[in-house]
Amino acid sequence: MTTDARTLDTGRRRVIHPLRPGLHPLWPVLATALWIATLGNLALWRALYQYGLLQGWNGFIFATGLGTALAALLVVLLGLLAWRRTLRPALVAVLVTSAMATHFMLGYGVVIDRAMLVNVAQTHAAEAADLMTPSLLLTVSMLGLLPAWWTWRIPIATRPWLGQLRHNLLAAGAAAAVAVLALLAVFQPLSSAVREHRPLRYMVNPLNTLVAAAQVVAAQLKAAPQPLRPLGRDAAVAPPSSAHRPPLLVLVLGETARADHFGLNGYALDTTPELAVLGVVSQRQARSCGTSTAASVPCMFSHMSRTEFDGATARHESLVDVLHHAGLAVLWLDNQAGCKGVCDRVPNVNTSKLGDNALCADGECRDEVMLSDLDARIASMPADRRARGIVLVMHQMGSHGPAYYKRYSAAFKRFGPECRSAALQDCSREEVVNAYDNTIAYTDHFLAATIHWLQVKSDQADTALLYVSDHGESLGEHNLYLHGLPYAMAPDTQKHVPWITWMSPGFALRTGVTRACLQQRLDEPVSHDHYFHSVLGLLDVQTQAYRPDRDFYRACRSP
Ligand SMILES: [Zn+2]
Repeated sequence: MTTDARTLDTGRRRVIHPLRPGLHPLWPVLATALWIATLGNLALWRALYQYGLLQGWNGFIFATGLGTALAALLVVLLGLLAWRRTLRPALVAVLVTSAMATHFMLGYGVVIDRAMLVNVAQTHAAEAADLMTPSLLLTVSMLGLLPAWWTWRIPIATRPWLGQLRHNLLAAGAAAAVAVLALLAVFQPLSSAVREHRPLRYMVNPLNTLVAAAQVVAAQLKAAPQPLRPLGRDAAVAPPSSAHRPPLLVLVLGETARADHFGLNGYALDTTPELAVLGVVSQRQARSCGTSTAASVPCMFSHMSRTEFDGATARHESLVDVLHHAGLAVLWLDNQAGCKGVCDRVPNVNTSKLGDNALCADGECRDEVMLSDLDARIASMPADRRARGIVLVMHQMGSHGPAYYKRYSAAFKRFGPECRSAALQDCSREEVVNAYDNTIAYTDHFLAATIHWLQVKSDQADTALLYVSDHGESLGEHNLYLHGLPYAMAPDTQKHVPWITWMSPGFALRTGVTRACLQQRLDEPVSHDHYFHSVLGLLDVQTQAYRPDRDFYRACRSP
């Protein structure tokens, strides 16, 4: 074949081209396409099998048709990239991304969509290190690196560009025809399968990653020129007076906590013994705005509801900006990867890298680190703002997975045996749940310690704490782990979050919100839609941005 090509080309162009001998590029393209359509899509095939779509004679025809269509589509894609400088990088890229996606889809039940790619892009080094498990290395080596190494090693024949263009277009055209025929043959079962099982559309490697990447780029291009819209510039609170103490409100932004694993909410195990004796009120029906930190946090701190936020094209200032405009002293303490742009314009400090602290080890710190040096941090804020009131946001590391066992110290190993691996599929479900429950027990302790700190401050300020998690978590139900599924298809465990209120007697008196009233509304639906307006209401911030109908505490506040 190589010799033919050389004779043909040299004959036509009357130039002796130093053609590099080797396999026709179509062979590695075809081999890679077949590999990815089969082994590189193990997660897809497993899901189709579990949905009962591959059984029997019809299942065999469906699998053959779908496999053929997948391979043919890959030949179209790779065939167009079959140039000397692009072919090998393209083959390696699709093999390795498909292998990585397969690992996470098989192991954790996640799917690859735009939100997941954003999560990946915002993952910091410590989180990435948690995910580097032996099983990831094994899957990526066997499914990705091994065939990638083969495609890198084999000699591939190349020809002058015009001849190559003709070959590439011919291969892509023929493959497109095969893909169309194969898709037509399985169209009916395929379309009903995708309608019935929404996750399938995000499971086809490498199309899922390509589509998600294109969506991320398109969104960035669209969002790039958007200026930040001001919000609540009219915000004001009552001027400081010697007759009243200023408010001191701590907003704890929880991480990956699911409501149904809180003893306070009726969980079978007592994961929250410390909060239980502190007179807190725990709402039982709170729902999140997103299923990941990147989706939830900006939405939670925005004045918009989830649907408004999803449809919004403009960027706005956040709740902490409005509190700052009102003249309050605002400080954002972040013990995690950052505040996703929410706190950029107010004083903020990252506590996750305070390596010299007894609470820190292996590149991260226990959440209690946010309480160290807190008095000094507060004292450094402007006195006129402090006199009006103080709001501290504490962004927890909380129950961040999959390495739950790294989130708490030995003293909080209440439940065992615990999973001590980030490869959750290597542990039993019971071990995974035990490790997760220990993270909740530690959060219970952290919240109680914060309340104790506030109790000490209660003679100088009217103190209160509001704890709400950013999203929930899957712990092996239906073979799903972690979080981040598209909102419409995510199970309730990824959206059902704790929402806990503690108020000092002074704060209750100041706002008129009584525990007894909140206790009567334990099962009333509340969500991140209410967060912005509820906080403004609790602090009595006057602004046009405030919507009383979204203030959860309003019904309990005395006029
Ligand atoms: Zn999160």
